[in-house]
Parts: sequence; C-alpha cells; structure tokens
Amino acid sequence: MNIVFVASEGVPFAKTGGLADVAGALPRAVAELGHATCLFLPCYRKVWDSKRDLAATGLTLRIPVGSSTVLGHVFEARLPDSDVPVYLIDEPGYFDREGLYGHLGHDFEDNCERFVFFQRAVLEATAALNLRPDVFHCNDWQTGLIPLYLRSLYKDTPGLESAGSLFTIHNLAYQGLFWHWDVPVTGLDWGYFNHRALEFHGKLSFMKAGLVFADMLTTVSPTYAREIQTQVQGAGLDGLLRDRRDDLRGIVNGIEERSWSPRNEAMLAERYDVETVSKGKAACKAWLQKHAGLPVRPDVPLFAQIGRLDPQKGWDLLAEVAERLLAHDVQLIVLGTGHPKYHNLLEALVHRHPGKVWAHLGFSDDLAHQIEAGADVFLMPSLFEPCGLNQLYSLAHGTVPVVHATGGLVDTVVDVNPQTIADGRATGFIFHEPTSNALWRTLERVLDVWGDRKTWARLVRSGMSTDWSWKQSAGRYVDLYREIQRRRRPQLAQTLSEDPVLP
Ligand code: ADP
Repeated sequence: MNIVFVASEGVPFAKTGGLADVAGALPRAVAELGHATCLFLPCYRKVWDSKRDLAATGLTLRIPVGSSTVLGHVFEARLPDSDVPVYLIDEPGYFDREGLYGHLGHDFEDNCERFVFFQRAVLEATAALNLRPDVFHCNDWQTGLIPLYLRSLYKDTPGLESAGSLFTIHNLAYQGLFWHWDVPVTGLDWGYFNHRALEFHGKLSFMKAGLVFADMLTTVSPTYAREIQTQVQGAGLDGLLRDRRDDLRGIVNGIEERSWSPRNEAMLAERYDVETVSKGKAACKAWLQKHAGLPVRPDVPLFAQIGRLDPQKGWDLLAEVAERLLAHDVQLIVLGTGHPKYHNLLEALVHRHPGKVWAHLGFSDDLAHQIEAGADVFLMPSLFEPCGLNQLYSLAHGTVPVVHATGGLVDTVVDVNPQTIADGRATGFIFHEPTSNALWRTLERVLDVWGDRKTWARLVRSGMSTDWSWKQSAGRYVDLYREIQRRRRPQLAQTLSEDPVLP
C-alpha cells in the first residue's frame, strides 16, 4: 500500500511534544513492513534550524486561501536512516516564525489560514508529485480538514480519487476552533457549517471535520479510546465519538529504538542495556546530579519530570505534594516549559530547597534523554493522558514511572503489588484517584520500595524488558489501512457532493 502521513510536527525536523515523536517514527515503521510511505510537514523556521539536508523539488504550488492565492514551495528530505521521503511545505509568511502554533503562550491569530494553506498544499502536492496514496493518515486538528477536502473540493482531483483517510487523535483537548467567519478561508461550502459537520458551538472546528469525515479514527491507547466517549473526557465531542465507535480504535504508540534506547543514545555519559543497567545508570545518574549542581549521591532517589508545564500533566497535584516529598531525603529534577504559574512554583522550590531541586525551564532534547537515563523515578500524574511517551521512555531506561490510572498510562504500566512483584510483571506505581493524597500515598510506597534494593532492581529490569518497539503498533495501523481500502465505497463521494450537509 501507499500511505501519505500528514502531521504538523515531526522529529527530527520540528517538535513540541509526543506527536512529533510519532510522526518521525511511524512512517518508517510502516515502511519497514513493506509499504510505501512519506510524510508531509510544514517547513517551519525550526526545520531550517535543524540543519537537515533539504532539497528543492522545484514544485511551486498556488493555493487558494480565502480570496487570495498563496504561493508555496515543496522541499524534500528523508527520515533518518531510511528512504522515507519527507515533504516540507514552505511559505515563509506562515511558517518562518518563532514557535510552531504560537509564541509566548499565545496562539498565532492566523492559525486557521496557516493550516488551511498547509492542508490544501499537501493535497495539491500529493497530486502534483503523483504519489497516488491509498490512505492519507492525518494527525490532530491541524490535518482535520483533509478527510473532508478529499470528499469535496478534491474528490475529482486526478490521483486522489481512491484515497481513503485515517484520522488519529493525539489529544482531544486541542481542537483547532476558529470563529465562524473563517469558513470562507477554508474554501468549503457554508453548507458544511452545521452541527453534524464543521460547527461546534458556533465555531468552526477542524478536529470535528476529521472525526466526522475520516473513513476511520484512531487514538493512541485503548483506554483513551473509551474515555473520550464519555462526557467527562469527551471535550464536547463524546456524542460524535460514540456514534463512530465502530470506526474508532486505540493503538498505543511505540518507542523509536534508534533514538530512545539507552543502548543507542550518544548523549549519555554511558550507554547501557538491561544487562549493564546498574553500572550504566549509576554513571548517568552521577553525570546528571553533577550537571544539575546536586550532590552526587547514588543512595538518594532522584525523581524527575519532563514535559509541558500544563494542568493536564498533573502539576497542581505535584505542587500540593512537593513539600511533603522534599521533606524526605530525595532529589527532584524538572525539564519543561509552559504555564507561568508552574514556572514560578519551580523557581520557588529551587530557591527553598538548594541542593535538592533543579529545574531547567526550557526545551532541550539532549537533556530529556539524559534525565530519562539518570533519574530513578519518573513522575507522571497526568489528569488525562492519551498515550504518554515519557512513561514508555522511562520504562526503557530503567526509570520507574509513577502514573495516574488514565489513558495510555494505565495501558502501559503494571502497578507494584505483592502479586505483580512475585510474578515479575510490576513495572511502576499507579494511583487511581486524581488527588494529592492518593498521589502522596503512592509516593510513600515508592520510598518504601526504594529501600528494598532487590525489589527495585527487579522493577527496573521488568520495565526495561518490555517490548515497546513500533513494530506491533505499525502492524495494527497497516491492518486499518487495509480495512479502509476494503470499506471504501466510490459512490460515497458522489452522495456527499449532492448533499454537503450530511456526512
Ligand atoms: P505530550 O505530547 O502531551 O506533550 P508526551 O509524553 O506524549 O506528552 O510526549 C512529550 C514529548 O515531548 C517527549 O518526547 C518529551 O521528552 C518531549 N518534551 C516535552 N517537553 C520537553 C522539554 N522541555 N524539553 C525536551 N523535550 C521535551
């Protein structure tokens, strides 16, 4: 099969979160199963800064955006260590900016225009490059209009007629909502602006377009697939997701072994695997403590957190337990950026607990790897977590995760209890109620088990021995691409053109 991936970020070109890791890995994993794949990304300033080899394809696109025509150019690169082409859509007016979606905590005001341009450019470039996809694999709101474009403006475009679409929800909380006067920017008929299609409480919703019009839907864990069909976690789209439950699957993300296995990471003080973990991890921990200006002590448990400083990630719970935790003989290292109130919290903790807490309030890929390798415990008390990659990276590095029982976290971590310890399945600690007391009781369990070095070593080993490579998940996606092909009914596009109101 021939699969075109479309995403708004992808490693190693541009990254703000887990979506980039998936977009940089899954096309290659699917290619390794014998399919032709490629990836489309916007050509942000970060892409140029990444110093990757970009070749001009010579293709110039003329994209209608509202009443204007915007010129775009297409550059080509490869995913590292592969033949998978990456097509980068360049338009400096939209993408040569600090930040991918916004700057200093504010979304760019022209995000609707930017991502209408990107999505139409992807479709036009796919046709012009004669890629002839069987399936467009779209990811999150920035690509949500593509399934609808395929059934409307582009249904007769040569080369796109037989393309189906899969839409993957990486985080339902970000929906791409714009005021209704942006409908003409999309080039779509006003007839689509109704509650069964693009309209969401008076606004234009890119996410909803993907959910309504894609042939099939996935999200990034089975538990999150169930959670988003409930009112509590459905972000207002649970009814629609329940309607489409037969087309919705949950597939857990994998780990990119080349970049996230401690066997391969060049930035580590010492590389290690499950056989050499005690020595290798000790070296990485000592390096990290030194780097952070903390006492170099192997005996003290080193807690860590990496990620967006956002309420989603459970920072209010962490704020409530931080002092209780730091009253013990522990160290805490945090890498992240986000909400100013959490920046303030962390600065205050560093100030109050010199020699115990270190925070790097910025984005550093190298440091993310070094922390995963050097820490003992990874804190991930997310209120909700579609999949979560950091707990997987922690498991791969022998860093024991502490997670809230939600989404992909509960699907990937096995809680410590006498039974799971005895049969060697335990890999981390799970708490069920999203309260600071529940989190604290779990941290007490962590401190207890830390004191039992043999049990801790078993936990580390079973986490490292679990296979989270992309191969299995990529196979599941391939099954879905096949199913989409089987299900596609050519007359559907015809029906839609006659009645733009009905999906
Ligand atoms: P989300 O996609 O919700 O942000 P995930 O756990 O799925 O959360 O993925 C986050 C990814 O982003 C991980 O690869 C993590 O290492 C990375 N990351 C997040 N914040 C930072 C940061 N400040 N510096 C480096 N990497 C970061």
